[in-house]
Amino acid sequence: MAGNIFKLNPEKMIHRVATLLTFCPAFVIMFPLFLPLRAEVIKLEAKTGDIFELRGRKIQPGEPLILAWLEKRAGLATVDFRGNHYELKANSGQPDFLFLGLDLGLKPGQQTLQITLWSDHQEKEQINTDINILARDFPKRKLTVDPKYVHPPPEVQERIKREAEILTQIYNQTSPEWLAQGKFEIPCDGQLSPNFGQQRIYNNVPRSIHAGVDMAIASGQPIKAANTGRIVLASNLYFSGNTVIIDHGLGLYTVYGHMSKLLVKRGVMAERGQVIGLAGSTGLSTGPHLHWAAKINEARVDPLALLEIEF
Ligand SMILES: [Zn+2]
Repeated sequence: MAGNIFKLNPEKMIHRVATLLTFCPAFVIMFPLFLPLRAEVIKLEAKTGDIFELRGRKIQPGEPLILAWLEKRAGLATVDFRGNHYELKANSGQPDFLFLGLDLGLKPGQQTLQITLWSDHQEKEQINTDINILARDFPKRKLTVDPKYVHPPPEVQERIKREAEILTQIYNQTSPEWLAQGKFEIPCDGQLSPNFGQQRIYNNVPRSIHAGVDMAIASGQPIKAANTGRIVLASNLYFSGNTVIIDHGLGLYTVYGHMSKLLVKRGVMAERGQVIGLAGSTGLSTGPHLHWAAKINEARVDPLALLEIEF
């Protein structure tokens, strides 16, 4: 795998910020979120000669991190982080990197990353590194919506519960192979709101945190797969309306909500840039827009960070 996975292109970032500013004055307040922050790189060296790099845009809640195995001496590296267990095999033809998600609700503080190196079924060395998760301020917003979404009527409680179970199952069965190809792309050219992590107050009732970004786009406009992967859900959900979930492998998923029409079926592969549905306003939505989200296993991460990953 080539050099830095997280590469920030300052020119592109300035252009992006400038574009956003012309769209909406509210972005002035959000400006600090879009500064081209220096990517974080933590180098981990073992006595065995094995070298790992932990990379990310920021070490903060809501950020995806990549752990790459750069120098391989051991045959197997097992990685433990926040109760999740991962395995990297040397010279197996499998990817020599993995994704770690810092959930947007994660409390700031120390989290231990444990890497164990194995050769010939014997433990050779263990590296324990404390990762310091910095605090992050998320925006708040008051919204008025149909009361049925704030206090779902009893007849839909069963449906909401069933859908939550389906989602949990999906996020527990990721492809062990890396299915994505090349860079991630923005799924539509709608007007982007930097509202990832926004605390939402629906009809004066504080509700769940907004775990994606919204892009205002006219109904019927095409929505494209941000990268190649397997369609693991293409159906209507109570909150996110007509929804597609793509499994890109290694625990990484992208989610597309509120579409008026779905153009893919569960189980098939979608190519990067393939139209998977048409924009709309189904489910809990105040107008036509795409809700775009990303998950790494169960961790909710900022999908915009994926656009800065380079392979
Ligand atoms: Zn949304």
